[in-house]
Amino acid sequence: MMNDTKNPNAADIALRLAAWWETAARDLPWRFGRASDWGVLVSEVMSQQTQMSRVVPYWTAWMERWPDARALAGAPKAEVITAWGRLGYPRRALRLQECARTVAEQYDNQLPHTYDELLALPGVGDYTASAVMSFAFGERIAVIDTNIRRVISRVFRGEESFGGAASPVERETARRLLPEGERGAVVWNQSVMELGATVCTAKAPLCDRCPIAGQCVFLRNGRPGLGERRTRPRQRFQGTDRQVRGLVLNALRELPAGSVLEREQAERLWKDRIQLDACIASLDDDGLVEMLPDGSLRLPQ
Ligand code: SF4
Repeated sequence: MMNDTKNPNAADIALRLAAWWETAARDLPWRFGRASDWGVLVSEVMSQQTQMSRVVPYWTAWMERWPDARALAGAPKAEVITAWGRLGYPRRALRLQECARTVAEQYDNQLPHTYDELLALPGVGDYTASAVMSFAFGERIAVIDTNIRRVISRVFRGEESFGGAASPVERETARRLLPEGERGAVVWNQSVMELGATVCTAKAPLCDRCPIAGQCVFLRNGRPGLGERRTRPRQRFQGTDRQVRGLVLNALRELPAGSVLEREQAERLWKDRIQLDACIASLDDDGLVEMLPDGSLRLPQ
């Protein structure tokens, strides 16, 4: 059924996406009710700034090792940082452990069930709190991430979304579009997000395979501005402090448990001593490494 009116029909789009979700959703291990509430939260924290498909092996190993908040709360920091592997932004690992401690101690190892309580947990922002409310608890709440913003902006406004924080208008639009029932709202969040991740991608949307192409204002208007960066460009990686911090942490992770990285070994990782020292100091400040008096390094004990 093609829509030939000017305005996209939100109810029709929701139906089409729900049907598409049934057959096209990726079979990720935390989906379809197979993961605990805590497992869903872990998947959402890991997936921030990392593609979901890359997260799967890390999430699987992590949940086998620390299946609930209490287990993670009691883990040695060095093991937590090592298990985070190459997911990037390793401070997230320590924040997740802080979150686990709060859940274990204040909530008897069960995630709290209100948005405000979730938002108050360490490392949990609006997106994660909303995603857990929707995907773990099945509540009717608008989830707003980059993929959802891009799809809604293209389909309903015919333009690319801006970078930065979601504007009040975007939030209001996302809330207005949410289907009435709880089940419909959850499927809407999941399917719009999945469409943005796999079909309506930022640089090369696959419009000829899109289940809602007949309703999309952006496509109808000739995809104006596609390829122009309206979102914040990714910081180049080569030569950045992120790269140097990653090199130091990876070197530490690859050592046998409890070993130290000698100063000379650290110096072989990066030529620019000033940048190297600044990065080591920042890792120390973040609690990701410990500097010993002789200049060697180790993962926190
Ligand atoms: S038609 Fe193209 S631009 Fe529109 S929602 Fe589908 S993939 Fe995205």
